[in-house]
Amino acid sequence: MYDGPTRRVALAAMAAGESLSSISRRLGVSRATLRDWRDTLPSGSASDCPRCAGGPLPESQYAHLLGLYLGDGCLSEHKKCVYALRIACDNKYPGLIAEAEEAILAVHPNRPVHRARAVGCVSVVSYWKHWPCLFPQHGAGPKHTRAIELADWQREIVVAHPGMLLRGLFHSDGCRVANWTTRTVAGQVKRYEYPRYMFSNESADIMGLCQWALGLVGVPWRMPRRNALSVARREAVATLDLHVGPKF
Ligand SMILES: [Zn+2]
Repeated sequence: MYDGPTRRVALAAMAAGESLSSISRRLGVSRATLRDWRDTLPSGSASDCPRCAGGPLPESQYAHLLGLYLGDGCLSEHKKCVYALRIACDNKYPGLIAEAEEAILAVHPNRPVHRARAVGCVSVVSYWKHWPCLFPQHGAGPKHTRAIELADWQREIVVAHPGMLLRGLFHSDGCRVANWTTRTVAGQVKRYEYPRYMFSNESADIMGLCQWALGLVGVPWRMPRRNALSVARREAVATLDLHVGPKF
């Protein structure tokens, strides 16, 4: 018997194009078992791409994943035209790691998602030839050094699900913080706490997308710095609490 992680590693390697013989040697699993694992995956083709093969695209989860990708995600070419989608997640927030896995599995359900651990962070990784179809923003270099524009079909999805894009953006490159202030009331100094949301990103284009999505849910924002956005009005914070909430 093999443990679940061995099976996940083997399936990820198959999805990335490694041969059964190579995986068999590397993991010490027979080729018959590997074939069995491959052939008992849920039905549907790995190339069931929503963009070029008319496959289904769950829009709400896609909007969420788009936010995570724009915040802390990247695509890299792996081998044989297979791309790795990586969403970097802070170790401190297991709920966010689980949500990133769920979003990826919802969009690309036929292949395993796995976790690559590094110091202080976990990358949630999925291999697919068609990730660039879903994230045409993919390009060379960091996102803030190139133009990031949404395709028309992506904009339509965000207009339908702006809160999910914001959830992805704020949970990757933002935070909900509790600020406080003091006020003197009837001679007594009182402490008042007020939460606010912050979003930081070096890309002016991604900042613009965040501002646009906030406008779609009717949330006013300020820019205390060129690369930092703040949402502080009480009713605006309450609206974002419905869509985003604290990291967990
Ligand atoms: Zn495609």
